[in-house]
Amino acid sequence: MSLKTRTEFFQRIDVRLTVYYTLVCIILFLGIYTSFYFILEHNLTGHIDNILLDEEHELIQELNETAEDGLPLITGCQDFMEDVSGRKHFPIFFRVFSSSNELIYQSENSKNIPLPEFHDSPRNESFPNNSLPAIRVHETTAAIQGTQETVFIQLATVTALSEIILKKWFRNALMVFPILILTCIGGGALVSFRPKKIIGNITNLTNRISSQHLKERLIVPDAKDEIRDLTITINTMLDRLDESFSQIKQFSADVSHELRNPLFALQGELEVAISKQRSKEEYKDIMGNCIERIQFLSKMVKDLFMISNFDTNKIPLQLTSVDLRELLLEIHAFFLPMAQEKGIRFSVEINRPIVFKADKTKFLQLLNNLLENAVKFTNENGVITLSANVNTHAQQVEIKVKDSGIGIPESELTKIFNRFYQVDKSRSDFQYGAGLGLHICQRIAEIHGGSISAESSLEKGATFTIILPKVIS
Ligand code: ADP
Repeated sequence: MSLKTRTEFFQRIDVRLTVYYTLVCIILFLGIYTSFYFILEHNLTGHIDNILLDEEHELIQELNETAEDGLPLITGCQDFMEDVSGRKHFPIFFRVFSSSNELIYQSENSKNIPLPEFHDSPRNESFPNNSLPAIRVHETTAAIQGTQETVFIQLATVTALSEIILKKWFRNALMVFPILILTCIGGGALVSFRPKKIIGNITNLTNRISSQHLKERLIVPDAKDEIRDLTITINTMLDRLDESFSQIKQFSADVSHELRNPLFALQGELEVAISKQRSKEEYKDIMGNCIERIQFLSKMVKDLFMISNFDTNKIPLQLTSVDLRELLLEIHAFFLPMAQEKGIRFSVEINRPIVFKADKTKFLQLLNNLLENAVKFTNENGVITLSANVNTHAQQVEIKVKDSGIGIPESELTKIFNRFYQVDKSRSDFQYGAGLGLHICQRIAEIHGGSISAESSLEKGATFTIILPKVIS
C-alpha cells in the first residue's frame, strides 16, 4: 500500500470510526482488566488473612488450655505445631514471644524463612522475601487466661498460591485480549457501515444534482437518530431548492410570455401604420397607441427590476419618520381627480396623527398600487375609503384601502399576491398591468416588517389591510 493510499484509507470515515471504537474498547477493557486484577488480588490476600486469623485463634486456644493445665506455654506451641504441620497449600510458620520479648517458641519450618522483626502493634503485611517465597505475616498480642502473662504471636504463610492464581488469570486475560480486540474491530466496522453507506448515498445524490435534476430524494431511515434528521434536512433543502428553481423557471416563462403580447401588439400597430398611406390623424392615433404600449412595457420592466432587487436583497431602505396622516392626505389628493372622473366617492379617514418609520417613496408606491386597483375595479357611483388606525394593544398600525368594486372571488384571494397573477385577464386590458402590482405591495410591506392581506368576495368590493409593527407615536 503506497503512502497516499494508506493516508486515504485512514481518512475514510468508516476506518476512522472503527479505529476510535476499537481504541475506546481497548481502554475500557484495560480498565476492567486492571480493576479485576486488583479485586482478585485483594480477595486472595483477604482469604490468606482469614486463614492466619483462624490459626491465631487456634494457637491462643492451645496456649490457654496449656496454662489451665499448669504446663509451660511451649507445650501449647508444640501441640499447635503438630496440628498445623500437615498444611500443604498454606504452611504455617510462627513465633511466640513473652511479654519481655523473649522467644518462647519458633516453629521448625520458619527457621529457613526469614520472618520480620516483631512489630509493636498488630499488623497484616506481605513481604516479597527476594529469592525465597513471598510471605504474608499476621501479628497480634494475646493475654493468656488464668495467668498474668501476655504473649506476642507472629504467624506467617506463603502467598505462592495466590500468586499462581493471579498469574494464571493474567495469562488467560492476555489470551482473550486479541479475541476481544478482533471483536471490537468487527463491531466497529459494523457500526460504521451505516453512516458510511448514508454518506455515500448523500455524496452520490449531490453529485447527480443539477438544476435539471432536483426531484431525487434520499431514503429516510426508520431509526429516529441524527442520520434520520440529516436526511430529512437534506431532503427539505432539496424541496426548497426545487421550489426555488421551479419559481425561477416559471418566472422566466411568465416574463417572456407577458412581454411577448404587448410586443406583438406594438409590432401589429406599426405594421398597420406602414401598410398604406394614412392621414395625419390616423398616424397620431396609432402613435398614441404605440406610446401606451411602450409605457406599459417600460412599467413592467421597471416592476420586474424592482422584484429582482427584492429577490437579491438589493433594495436599500431609507427609513424616516413619516407622518401617516400627511401621507394619506397627499395620496388622496393625487387620486381624487381620477376617482371623480369615474364618478367614485373617495374619502380618507384618519383622526389623529400617526408617526411611524418607513421608506416614504416605497410606501407611497404600495398605496399607489392599491389605489390604482381600487379605482380601476370600482364602477361609477362606487365608494373608495382610505383609512388608518392604531392598534395600541398590539403596537401596530393598520391601513385599509376599501372599495365597493367588482371584488375578487374568495378562492383567488390566496393567489393574488403571486407574481403575474391576474384573477381574470379579461377584466383588465393591456394598459392596466401585468399582475405584478400586488406582489410589489406585499414585498414593500414585508421589508417594513409588516404584512398585507385581502378580504373580498365577488361583486362585494375588496378591502386590503396593511399591518405595520412598532408604531412610534
Ligand atoms: P394588475 O396590475 O394586473 O392589476 P395586481 O397584482 O395589482 O395586477 O392585481 C392582481 C389581480 O388582483 C388583478 O388581476 C385583479 O383581478 C385583482 N385585484 C387587485 N385589486 C383588486 C380590487 N381592488 N378589486 C378587484 N380585483 C382586484
